[in-house]
Amino acid sequence: MASTKFLLTEADIPRSWYNVAADLPVPLPPVIHPGTKQPIGPSDLAPLFPMALIMQEVSAEREVEIPEPVREVYKLWRPTPLYRARRLEQALDTPAHIYYKYEGGSPAGSHKPNTAVAQAFYNKQEGVRRLTTETGAGQWGSALAFACRLFGLDCTVYMVRVSYDQKPYRKLMMQTWGADVLPSPSEATEAGRAVRAKAPESPGSLGIAISEAVEDAAKHDDAKYALGSVLNHVLLHQTVIGLEARRQMEMAGEAPDVVIGCVGGGSNFSGLAFPFLPEKFKGGATRFVAVEPEACPSLTRGQYLYDFGDTAATTPLLKMYTLGHTFVPPGIHAGGLRYHGDAPLLCLLVHHKVIEAVAYPQRAVFDAALQFARTEGIIPAPEAAHAVRKAIDEAAEARLSGRPKVILFGLCGHGHFDLSAYEAHLAGRLEDFAYPQEAVERAMRELAPLQPPAPI
Ligand SMILES: *Cc1c(COP(=O)(O)O)cnc(C)c1O
Repeated sequence: MASTKFLLTEADIPRSWYNVAADLPVPLPPVIHPGTKQPIGPSDLAPLFPMALIMQEVSAEREVEIPEPVREVYKLWRPTPLYRARRLEQALDTPAHIYYKYEGGSPAGSHKPNTAVAQAFYNKQEGVRRLTTETGAGQWGSALAFACRLFGLDCTVYMVRVSYDQKPYRKLMMQTWGADVLPSPSEATEAGRAVRAKAPESPGSLGIAISEAVEDAAKHDDAKYALGSVLNHVLLHQTVIGLEARRQMEMAGEAPDVVIGCVGGGSNFSGLAFPFLPEKFKGGATRFVAVEPEACPSLTRGQYLYDFGDTAATTPLLKMYTLGHTFVPPGIHAGGLRYHGDAPLLCLLVHHKVIEAVAYPQRAVFDAALQFARTEGIIPAPEAAHAVRKAIDEAAEARLSGRPKVILFGLCGHGHFDLSAYEAHLAGRLEDFAYPQEAVERAMRELAPLQPPAPI
């Protein structure tokens, strides 16, 4: 009987993460200080992150060992299944073979616990007692709340107030795992009090929530801060996805011609794609496609420049494709894909054309999500549905050209907490929105003074 799932055993959970930094064709531009424009050093990050994670951030070792206690927690849901989408293939009448790696079976329902668990472990090991973070719709906050609970850490989550009020379910997940969830702007920090003094009814923003979480960690010796995407160590931890997928594709007796994933900050896509890159660097023909919303087109229409990591302009400068840190994300339903920039490692590879990028409007994305749910059963997260859209388009191309191809995409989470977005789509109430070009150009002019004078 032909297989639908390709399953590994717990013993097959990878023993090390893959660090693409060891194999890059060109060096990664350094993170720089906004004042001096000079590269920052590990000690600059020490107030916020434990040293083990800072060393991973700058590591050039190809393989970074996964600590045994992290592998033990991974066993709760890893290895994750690789599926062959036979019913979707049939519905599309395509000669393409479509595979997807499903990360929605984790306790938090997405790929994010892959890094949350690792981050909680290293913080615990260095004597940290509490982690702080921000969350928008709550995907990252819930992953970190879960991870902190398992390692006996306290967890404080600054949740954007409008989500706190309107999307209570992930807040309740965080509270179920024991996290302290504060609507942001809060009264707990100077940053929050300053906003509330001026605008008591402020709905909050991710930028304000970041400022609160960072201030809280910086002011308390026993607390550190945790980030769910963008940074090198986050992408590193997510490579468990691609390392498992490689072995599962071997079990299926195939190799992908195209690897697809959605991109918010870039961690799930990079986690799936990077372990397949060593062959690409040696001249392999596999294509890699990052998919983003047309409403937040950082990779496809942003510029490759130095910019702040946060909207409050408090972080060091990162070289990345950016829409400008002043970018105000439109209210699309893929809440996880609304960041103004992208992971520097991913951006470097897009810049050097190792990885392609494409953008879709949200109605086409939800059409793909429905087609997927109605054939394969799983209801995709709106973010993951961007990858589904591209996979379906690649399969349609195979049908037209008559050339078979092997498609692998990341189904990074389920959409059970996003059903109001499905409700809007089913009722025909979703609208497409392409980010205006003038806004991109205006933001780019504002970035000019941030650029270092000479190439670093
Ligand atoms: C957070 C999130 C994303 C976006 O983050 P990346 O770092 O780009 O992976 C995408 N999908 C889901 C389900 C998420 O929770």
